[in-house]
Amino acid sequence: METRLTMYITLVVTSGVMSAFLCMYAIYKRKDVPDARNLILLTALQSIYIFGFAFELASDSLAEIKRWIIVEYLGIAFAPVVGLMLVLRYMGKAVPRPWALAMYAIPLTTIALVSTNDVHGLFYKDIYLRENTPSPMADIVVGEWYIVHGAYTFGCLLAGGILLILQWKKTNKAYRKQLFTLICGQFIPMTASFLYLMGITPDGMDVVPFVLCITSAMYLWALLSTQMLRISPIAKESLFESMREGVLVLDLSERLIDYNPAAGRMLPELGAPLVGLTLDSVWKRMAGTEFPIERGLGGINGHLRWTSGGKTSEYEVRSSLIKKRAGDTFGSLLMLIDFTEQRMLQEQLKRQAYYDSLTGALNRARFVMQARALLQEKAPSRMPVSLILFDIDHFKRFNDTYGHETGDAVLVHVAAVCREVIEEGHLFARYGGEEFVIAMPDATLEEACEFAGRLRDALAEEPLLSKAGSLSVTASFGVTASRDGADSLDELLRQADEGLYEAKRRGRDQVVAYNKKELPAQHA
Ligand code: GH3
Ligand code: MG
Ligand code: MG
Repeated sequence: METRLTMYITLVVTSGVMSAFLCMYAIYKRKDVPDARNLILLTALQSIYIFGFAFELASDSLAEIKRWIIVEYLGIAFAPVVGLMLVLRYMGKAVPRPWALAMYAIPLTTIALVSTNDVHGLFYKDIYLRENTPSPMADIVVGEWYIVHGAYTFGCLLAGGILLILQWKKTNKAYRKQLFTLICGQFIPMTASFLYLMGITPDGMDVVPFVLCITSAMYLWALLSTQMLRISPIAKESLFESMREGVLVLDLSERLIDYNPAAGRMLPELGAPLVGLTLDSVWKRMAGTEFPIERGLGGINGHLRWTSGGKTSEYEVRSSLIKKRAGDTFGSLLMLIDFTEQRMLQEQLKRQAYYDSLTGALNRARFVMQARALLQEKAPSRMPVSLILFDIDHFKRFNDTYGHETGDAVLVHVAAVCREVIEEGHLFARYGGEEFVIAMPDATLEEACEFAGRLRDALAEEPLLSKAGSLSVTASFGVTASRDGADSLDELLRQADEGLYEAKRRGRDQVVAYNKKELPAQHA
């Protein structure tokens, strides 16, 4: 038996050393192991237990044995709870703090009762040395709390094992080996201590300390090689952090739960103190108004214009529900997509497509389109649409005398003077080289002629101040109006051109109204 005992002690010490080594390895690898804290704690607690057990085996008095038993319980009382925590964390389940504290209450009581057992005998009623053993070995008569502790230990291991088994189907095949290892890690110590309690282990020896180093190794392997499991949440998190789109996380009552750095940049007024407030309250604090986008059936979708630090940005806002696997909704994501640049590009393209680049007036093609639409719109009500076509007088001379650049400046000048006079609703376009056109909805021929007169006056009053000095610019105007909404644009343009031609013929710098019955007449 003496040699057997030496062998047992050697085995236990080996197991303890391995456990301690695994603990150090877990510390060393802590960055690679999900929930390394619990693994380090578990292996440390097991080492304490195993070494305590080795010293118990080597003890030569009952008093010494009792002391080492206390040391053992410092480790073994907590180990099953820590193991269960490890399993829960592995499965991605967070244990609320009060629950975690409650789970540690029983092990704490166990330690308290073991170390004060002599006073109350609640843990073991009696502890005595086995007879006929060459080295003292203790047997105990279990007390009440021993049963509580035992049941709790089994309960924790069993719960961990069952939770892991339930995870089987949901676990990707690539990780089943790891899951199986973790399940074994729960059931091996259970089986070992069951065999011991049934009295069928060699020499009535507690075999748990022997197997614990094996289960620790299994845990460590499983967790180290399952670090990839962690990649997905980490990837999701880093995606959230690095996205160009701003994301606001809202709960079911639209309370702001979180936002990503992009959202923080888009809405610099967002800040930690606003987290927890409803979206409307957040907006009230930031902008003084409620959140401006209406909630529809599809959630919150729309456009948001945000000015901050003198810069106005345009965001497309889209929301999507956050659902649990089971399908319950528990919040929503509000995505902010910056399309300021896109909008600017769109506007630039629109400008290029619709407007004359030199004068900024509508181009001919766009004018034709819009004027046709205007005529169509006015036709049913028989409201008149008037057209003024005008052409700069002797424009060629500006080009010939002062150069093309000055010619351009004259065109820009004429357009600028026109813009001062034209009113909302008027269509103003550069019709050709130095020819412009204005469409005036709801204006009679007389009103249009009067307006053309004002334009003529404005040009006369504002000469172009060019490098070549003050240049007075005049133009000739042909005016017509649609009657009964019957005339086509082409017909109106032709009539206006006829009036313009007549104005030129009559000596330029004047307004001539087209008159169907008579010859085009000069307007006063
Ligand atoms: P009128 O009084 O009879 O209208 O005489 P005009 O000289 O104004 O008419 P004409 O049609 O003989 O000359 C128009 C000139 O305008 C011819 C063309 O070279 C010039 N032109 C057309 N587009 C531009 C432009 O974008 N810039 C400049 N600088 N000149 C232009
Ligand atoms: Mg001309
Ligand atoms: Mg011309």
